Amino acid sequence: MPDPDAFVDSYSNLVPALILISLIVWETVGPCFRYFVRRPGKRVRHGAINIGFGIINAIVIAIIFVTAWEAAAKWSLKTNFGILRWTALPPWIEGIFAVLVFDFFTYWWHRFNHTIPFLWRFHRVHHSDAEMDVTTANRFHAGEIVMSSLLRVPLLFLLGADLWMLALYELLMFPVVQFHHANIRLPDPLEKGFRAIFASPVMHKIHHSDYVKETNSNYTSFFSFWDRIFGTYRMREDFELIQLGLKEFREPEDAQFFGMLKIPFRKAKRASSGNDCKGTEIEL
Ligand SMILES: [Zn+2]
Repeated sequence: MPDPDAFVDSYSNLVPALILISLIVWETVGPCFRYFVRRPGKRVRHGAINIGFGIINAIVIAIIFVTAWEAAAKWSLKTNFGILRWTALPPWIEGIFAVLVFDFFTYWWHRFNHTIPFLWRFHRVHHSDAEMDVTTANRFHAGEIVMSSLLRVPLLFLLGADLWMLALYELLMFPVVQFHHANIRLPDPLEKGFRAIFASPVMHKIHHSDYVKETNSNYTSFFSFWDRIFGTYRMREDFELIQLGLKEFREPEDAQFFGMLKIPFRKAKRASSGNDCKGTEIEL
């Protein structure tokens, strides 16, 4: 079997960059929503701010958390502690199991971000984007990243995972997350096929709807089956009528970098969940 660390290293730089560029081209040629059509300045400003958030978060993770995650993995190896250390399965089964556990954690972390008011304060920075595109996948407040990264320390230890398993999960999840945030649409049969396994562009557009019942659905980031298992799967046929963003953050300041940084610390009552959904709900 090839060395997992080498595999992850060789994949980690090139493929994500190619995916990002391809999606930006796709959004330019065939956007789903037309908010940036003939508005290149607005699109560049919007993208630069979102990527700015991504760069800050990458620095925070590189400086603090990679070392912490490495320490947790080494400590579990040294003490022979953690589920995977006790079971001693073949590496490829361990890899699959770890990916499932990390994705289960991501689902519930995301769900708690919507249901626990303190966490929602930070997560609403991501949801306040009324012009969602591929760059929105990088728009997370550093506070949210710090909290989720911190929780991964005990998770790695309890699981007894090696760091390459977390890197593998990130590398598998990255293209899917960029893809379902992108301002694109797939032909219906492809969309349906994709969401049978993964969180799809339509699923995630519904998650970014400003209609609260839709915002509080479709929490999955990678595998779509968590939403079906835990009863949070939601679909509508006329997704192109969705109003993206949050009703309570529609001022010009809310679309600026420093304004967004302040969103967690501002008072904003969640808009009522009234019956304002114009869409047609369908059960699938
Ligand atoms: Zn969310």
